[in-house]
Amino acid sequence: NVRVRFAPSPTGPLHIGGVRTALFNYLFAKKHNGTFVLRIEDTDQTRYVANAEQYIIDSLTWCNIPFDEGPEKNEKFGPYRQSERKDLYKKYAEQLIENGWAYYAFDTAEDLDAHRKDHEEQGKTFIYNWHNREKGRLVNSLVLSKEEVAAKIKAGEKYVVRFKTPQDETLILQDEIRGTIKVETNTLDDKVLFKSDGMPTYHLANIVDDHLMEISHVIRGEEWLPSLPLHVLLYRAFNWKAPKFAHLPLILKPVGKGKLSKRDGDKLGFPVFPLAYTNEQTGDVSRGYREDGYFADAFINMLALLGWNPGTEQEIFSLEELVKAFDLSRVSKSGAKFSPDKTKWFNQQYLQQKSNKELTALFLPILEEKGIVIANEEKQSVSNKKITSSNTPLNDVYVEKVVDLIKERATFVADFWELSSFFFKNPSAYDAKAVKKQWKPETGSLMQELIEVISKIEDFSIENLQTEIKGWIASKEIGFGKVMQPLRLSLVGKLAGPDLFEIMTMIGKETTITRIQNAIQ
Ligand code: GLU
Repeated sequence: NVRVRFAPSPTGPLHIGGVRTALFNYLFAKKHNGTFVLRIEDTDQTRYVANAEQYIIDSLTWCNIPFDEGPEKNEKFGPYRQSERKDLYKKYAEQLIENGWAYYAFDTAEDLDAHRKDHEEQGKTFIYNWHNREKGRLVNSLVLSKEEVAAKIKAGEKYVVRFKTPQDETLILQDEIRGTIKVETNTLDDKVLFKSDGMPTYHLANIVDDHLMEISHVIRGEEWLPSLPLHVLLYRAFNWKAPKFAHLPLILKPVGKGKLSKRDGDKLGFPVFPLAYTNEQTGDVSRGYREDGYFADAFINMLALLGWNPGTEQEIFSLEELVKAFDLSRVSKSGAKFSPDKTKWFNQQYLQQKSNKELTALFLPILEEKGIVIANEEKQSVSNKKITSSNTPLNDVYVEKVVDLIKERATFVADFWELSSFFFKNPSAYDAKAVKKQWKPETGSLMQELIEVISKIEDFSIENLQTEIKGWIASKEIGFGKVMQPLRLSLVGKLAGPDLFEIMTMIGKETTITRIQNAIQ
């Protein structure tokens, strides 16, 4: 029975590394008909950010990787916010003290600093564990009597509960991605599990909850690997069966060395967050993939290949295909370089796959913003829907045809206007360089003649336009480009865009003639 969890701390927006962790958990759960749990790890009140939980949930929703259990959803093992489970952890800390796996420590921050300094002066590092916990000046329940401990607690002295790491043991840990890892317990310090303010630390709450929520696999980022020895020891101390662990490789900067950081996005000009995020304290807004015009499925496809590969050349995967193909054994140990260019490439690929209808729906609001009035499809009579007449019927069908003609050059829907404005309005300017090169002294009269030719054409279909205009050019025994380039400049404003006859059919006879006239003047 596979049960996995995504356990973010709501300290700010989720960055792409966090989304990748959520995605791999989701894929693993779905692959094994398991359950994907969302748990909010909000025990550190000093780092708590109020809108972060909603941001996390909105991000998973946008990415289309919903959780099966979590806050306010299927609360079988709830509550799913650790702050709401607060009262539960104390007894587990006490249980460990009773079993001899943990102890109270009363050392103040100043005490510990002093010890650190002393050690430094002797060229040593201070580790709070068996090296010194039962000797020297450390104040804890391993050196105090039961009565002394009780008295200190009663007097309201601040304490922490520390894990009692075993001495002289080589731990042999298993990771689903990294294989066998050996760690000497003597290098580990006695981590704090619980504090006198009644709050557990991440380690205790995380293990207790994974156990109570019956988590079978812990899939998380590599930055948690150093916690693995302690976590495995905690399971041993509680006498609980440990879940399987899988630590995902780091996501690396696109250029240079090191881990992709939340600040790299602004520096290099690409989003590192799924959704735009407003920092409520500073008012700063960070860019998001959604707001930058990326498709969620393209974004997810890109993320899936950051640290995982299918073992084939295939790059484009739908979510269902990812679920089928995903396997922890194909997750790499080494870091995965994030590439903004590749991310754009994915979006472009997905855009080509989208239906014209879907793309049109996304383009219509942009057209409206540009002041282009598009007739509502329902209100159009059937005959109006055919685009063969001399005027330009601006309806959904027309926009869909435009989309079909230009989409292969687009990466984002936001590129559509730049690529197609001439389908909706006359060019307002002409590319000066191109005019200089293509508009010869004789071009004006040639274009005048062309207007005559065009006004006599009844059938404005692509094929007929081609036959008539090419025939006329041939009869004049001049180069094709002498007419076609100035014509393109007249209709489009620059030397770009789809097939000219296609454009003429689309915009219609009247508009075609008007534009050539405008260009001559
Ligand atoms: N709360 C931790 C985080 O912010 C969870 C780490 C884990 O999955 O154990 O990532």
